[in-house]
Amino acid sequence: MTTSLFELAPTLGEQDALSVAQAQAFIAQSITAITETETLPLKQLSGRVLAADIISPINVPAHDNSAMDGYALHATDLNAGSLRVVGTAFAGKRFSGTVGRGECVRIMTGAVMPQACDTVVPQELTRDNTEHSVSIPAGVVLAGANRRLAGEDLALGKAALHKGKLLTPADLGLLASLGIGEAPVQRKLRVAHFSTGDELRSIGEPLAEGCIYDSNRYTLHGMLSRLGCEVIDMGVVKDDPASLEAALRQACEQADAIITSGGVSAGDADYMKQLLASLGEVLFWKIDMRPGRPMAFGKLTANGHSAMLFGLPGNPVAVMVTFYFFARAALRQMMGATPLPQLIARVRSAQPIRKKPGRTEYQRGIITLDAEGLQSVRITGSQGSGILSSMSEANCMVLLQHAQGDVQAGELVDVMLFEGLL
Ligand code: AMP
Ligand code: MG
Repeated sequence: MTTSLFELAPTLGEQDALSVAQAQAFIAQSITAITETETLPLKQLSGRVLAADIISPINVPAHDNSAMDGYALHATDLNAGSLRVVGTAFAGKRFSGTVGRGECVRIMTGAVMPQACDTVVPQELTRDNTEHSVSIPAGVVLAGANRRLAGEDLALGKAALHKGKLLTPADLGLLASLGIGEAPVQRKLRVAHFSTGDELRSIGEPLAEGCIYDSNRYTLHGMLSRLGCEVIDMGVVKDDPASLEAALRQACEQADAIITSGGVSAGDADYMKQLLASLGEVLFWKIDMRPGRPMAFGKLTANGHSAMLFGLPGNPVAVMVTFYFFARAALRQMMGATPLPQLIARVRSAQPIRKKPGRTEYQRGIITLDAEGLQSVRITGSQGSGILSSMSEANCMVLLQHAQGDVQAGELVDVMLFEGLL
C-alpha cells in the first residue's frame, strides 16, 4: 500500500465522532480513479464516463444558416420596401446565385445563407408575397436577425466534451452532430456487496422466528445499477469471522470497491475491527448524522488486489442514506467522473420539523403542489431508520444541516429530489 489512510487523517482517531462534511472530505481525498478504458459505440455511452477530451473535427453548424422560414437579404435592404425574389434556398440545397441590392432569396429553416445575405425576415412578417417579389415593412427585424452562425454550437478544434464527463443523452446527440460514432470511456467500476447478519434470510427461504428477509441486498443492487456499476452480488454472509474473512478476500480480488451492510454498530465493531485490521486499514466512524451514525471506511488488500471498503450500517434506511451521501460520490470519483455539485433546492416546509443542532439529518420528504400552485414539502410518516416504506413513499430527501435547529412551518428547507429529468 502506498499511502496510509491513517496518515492522511492524522486528526481522526478511530473512535472520533465526525461531521458529515468531514467524513465526505476525508473519503474524497482517499480515492483514486481507475485508469482502464474501453471504446464503445454511441448507443452504449449513456451514463458512462468520458476518458478523453473530444475535439470537434468540424464546425456545427458547418455554415451560417437560417433559423426561420422567410426571406434572406442584406441588412441594408431592410428598409428598401419591396424586394425582388431571385431564388429559393432549401435545407440541404443551397441557393448558389448572387443576391444584389434590392433582391432577396426565399429561404427555409436550416438552409445555408446565400452569399452576401446576413439577415432573415420571417415569412409571417412579410407582405404582398408573390413568386417574384415581397414587401418588408420597415423595422420588423434587426440586422443579422434569424441567422445561425457557423460554429456557434461547436467550434472546429475546440473541446466539445471534456474527460470526466458523465455522458447524458444530450452528449450522445452532440457526438452524433460531430459525426463521431464511438468514444473512449472508463471501464465500468466493479462493486461487490454483501449483507451481514445471522438473522437474514434470502428470498425463497422460510422465515424462522426472529428472522427477516435481506432487503439491503436489493436496494444496494438497485442503487449500484443506477450508478452504472458492474454489480457483484455476494448474497448474505453469516456473522462469523471465517465466513466474513473469506467473503472480504474474494471481494478484494474481484472488485474495485466493496460495500457491506450491517455489523459496524457498537456491539459488532470490535469483532469486525480485528478482522478488517488484518486485511488492511479501516476507520470506524461515528458520524454526527441521522440516520446512519456508524460507518466504516477503508482499503483492504488480499492476494495483491486492493479494494475500497464502505461498511454501511444495517438498518435499511441508513444503508440508503449512507450510500447516497458517502458511497455514491466516492464511487463516481473512482469511475473517473468529474465531481458534480449536489443539486439542492429550497422548498417551503408544510409543517414544523424538530431538529437538534450538531448533526445532519436526512428526513424522507414528499414534495407536492399546494393550493397556490407552489411547491411545499412534508415529511413521510415514520422516520425510523428501519422504515423502508418511508423511502419508497418519498420523492425527496430533506437535508437538515449540521448547525440547523427546529424548522417552523413555512420555512425554506434544503431538499434533494430523487428524480431528475435525465
Ligand atoms: P446491524 O448494524 O447489523 O446491527 O443491523 C441493524 C439493524 O438492521 C438490525 O435490526 C438488522 O436486523 C437490520 N438489518 C441488517 N442487515 C439487514 C439487511 N440486509 N436487510 C434488512 N435488514 C437488515
Ligand atoms: Mg447485524
